[in-house]
Amino acid sequence: MNCVTQKSDSLARIAELKYNAPPMAKLTFLGAAGTVTGSKYLVEANGKRLMVDCGLFQGDAELRQRNWEPMPDAASVDWLVLTHAHLDHTGYIPRFLKEGFKGPIYSNAPTRELCGVLLPDSGYLQEEDSRHAQKKGYSSHKPALPLYTEAEAQQCLTRFVENSRTDWFAISPEFSVRQHDAGHILGSASLELAITEGGKKTVVMFSGDIGRYGGPILNSPAPPVAADVLLCETTYGDRDHPNTSPYDEMADVVSRVVKRAGVIVIPAFAVDRTQLIMYVLHKLAMAKRIPVLPVYVDSPMAINVTSFYLKHPEENSKEFNEELKVDDPLAVHTVHMTRTSDESKAINNVKDPCIIISASGMATGGRVLHHLIQRLPDAKNAVLLCGYQADGTGGRALQDGVKSFHVMGQSVPVLAEIVDMKQFSAHAGQSELLKWISGFAVPPRQTYLVHGEPAAALAFQKLVNARPGWKASVAQYKQTVDLSA
Ligand SMILES: [Zn+2]
Repeated sequence: MNCVTQKSDSLARIAELKYNAPPMAKLTFLGAAGTVTGSKYLVEANGKRLMVDCGLFQGDAELRQRNWEPMPDAASVDWLVLTHAHLDHTGYIPRFLKEGFKGPIYSNAPTRELCGVLLPDSGYLQEEDSRHAQKKGYSSHKPALPLYTEAEAQQCLTRFVENSRTDWFAISPEFSVRQHDAGHILGSASLELAITEGGKKTVVMFSGDIGRYGGPILNSPAPPVAADVLLCETTYGDRDHPNTSPYDEMADVVSRVVKRAGVIVIPAFAVDRTQLIMYVLHKLAMAKRIPVLPVYVDSPMAINVTSFYLKHPEENSKEFNEELKVDDPLAVHTVHMTRTSDESKAINNVKDPCIIISASGMATGGRVLHHLIQRLPDAKNAVLLCGYQADGTGGRALQDGVKSFHVMGQSVPVLAEIVDMKQFSAHAGQSELLKWISGFAVPPRQTYLVHGEPAAALAFQKLVNARPGWKASVAQYKQTVDLSA
């Protein structure tokens, strides 16, 4: 037998083995592996393909470039299911449709409503960025193009199909999904995915983003259920949040700034941070722990989103719902909701103590930049940072103690007090993540750590693997794993 015949015989043998091999459900990490953004997990079983989350890569240029990589297999994906509305979990959807995805998008009602606001806004910002890049000539695309437009983001909203917040939902004979409250933002869920292939059932638990226990507005994360395979987020896998009271800290800072006749500027994300700050201010005002002063919510998107929080009591803590019966728990003193840019500019004329809450939360854009330019050069004022400030953002620069703030072609001296309010994070800290995984009565056969910078994921891997019966590895970008082994 010559070697060519030998080779073709062995290839035929491999093909035969493959043909007779039992079916193999598999999962590919297409994002949020080695980083905190771009969440996308492709699950394949019985020739069908399901994507869990469809997030945008955010952060440095190298990461953002991944959003432009073609996705030739998009047309072959049958369904998309979402854990929650944050753009790092949903912001790629309009592009996914442009790449050929034709299936439905499954989410619960609050996530669909939030996406209805967040995705068109993201399209608008993409267009703004491309216009800016075109003008300044720094884009690698000639002409500079948006990843997608506001109109394209609007169109993708027709693909959303609401599914149950609590019950099993059968997507196909291969895939069924059940949601568990993740307590991170309105509508956030951990997903329990049951995969049936060749008569064999495999359960994969996707943690989604885990929120805080005992937070003021949302329910605490629900304990996880039994699973064969777990994907667990690790955003704060290497650290804890301070356990001081956000109420005490907010009361202190408001009182001392008002005493010196200053103004407080709070860069805040439209979803969740703004509502949380409003609620904390409301509680402090009710308890007369802060002086009476005007509060400006200067973000049209935050105003829209606030109404969603009020119409979904099932998402909220008992305490918040009790208050909802007697009062508007997101109202405080004299609240001014400013929708137009003229109303926004008029806030510049306010010289008396007040609080200005405005997006974006990391001072990367939006109306808050104008307020920072106005208020940073005065030592009477304060800027409150209320969440994760990514590297390279204006918020991180302020957190790092810069002496002058460079923005929109201007440079202003930073004389205002900068206060870092870490208690306001929407993500579980290390101990809270450990508390969540302790909910498993039996450790999953395999755990993959996702949605974390390498240091955070590695630190959490050590802690998980120190637990009896646990086997965790850090997921790698574009790695494919066998789910049925
Ligand atoms: Zn999130």
